[in-house]
Amino acid sequence: MSTNTGILQSKNLTKYILETSVFPREPKILKELRDATASHPWGFMGTAPDAGQLMALLLKLLNAKKTIEVGVFTGYSLLLTALSTPDDGKIVAIDPDREAYEIGQPFIKRAGVQHKIDFIESPALPVLDKLLEDPSNVGTFEFAFVDADKHNYWNYHERLVKLVKIGGLIIYDNTLWGGTVSWPEEDVPANKRESRQSALTFNKAIAGDSRIEISVASVGDGFTICRRAH
Ligand code: SAH
Ligand code: CA
Repeated sequence: MSTNTGILQSKNLTKYILETSVFPREPKILKELRDATASHPWGFMGTAPDAGQLMALLLKLLNAKKTIEVGVFTGYSLLLTALSTPDDGKIVAIDPDREAYEIGQPFIKRAGVQHKIDFIESPALPVLDKLLEDPSNVGTFEFAFVDADKHNYWNYHERLVKLVKIGGLIIYDNTLWGGTVSWPEEDVPANKRESRQSALTFNKAIAGDSRIEISVASVGDGFTICRRAH
């Protein structure tokens, strides 16, 4: 299968879910963007379609209008967000890699949702700090999606928990890191240990954060869904 299918469940179960419930309902333009990304050397980084489907549902449930995305890549989750928000929706989308974003841009334009997107070519931390400096941004976003450099997740969290309004959601992707979070350290390939450690540290910290309610969904590579409680 030419896509990021996630590896948390058995391959057969994932295949069943994708073929029965996800692919038949995936908007055509999103599939086209996914196909265009599959040939990219880092194409596996695109958000898993089953996780995307959950995200679209949550965006609609929230009636999210103002959102933030940290880690755009070619724009699968960004286009999905744009398709799941109203016509006057606004998405602040941050990524230092404009080249990857440009692969997805023709699809975003064809979908007629480019006007919702404010793409900022930069590492995310300084942009989030800048947003926070303006009181008219604080506590106004309904939704944020974080899918970037894993060692900064807690730094993003400290900012996003202030930018998102009470009742709003923040979703962190890849928090189960291919399932390795539950493995004994010695079984984890050396090149995965550092990111796994970031996930372990983040998961523990987020579980202890009383400002939010959480649910860890084992879709894709692990979605930690946080609701700002107060
Ligand atoms: N959500 C995307 C996948 C993101 S992959 C999708 O659905 O396709 C991770 C992305 O994080 C990469 O594009 C990378 O450039 C970006 N990234 C890395 N460091 C970052 C940083 N400091 N701030 C924002 N984005 C960053
Ligand atoms: Ca991801």
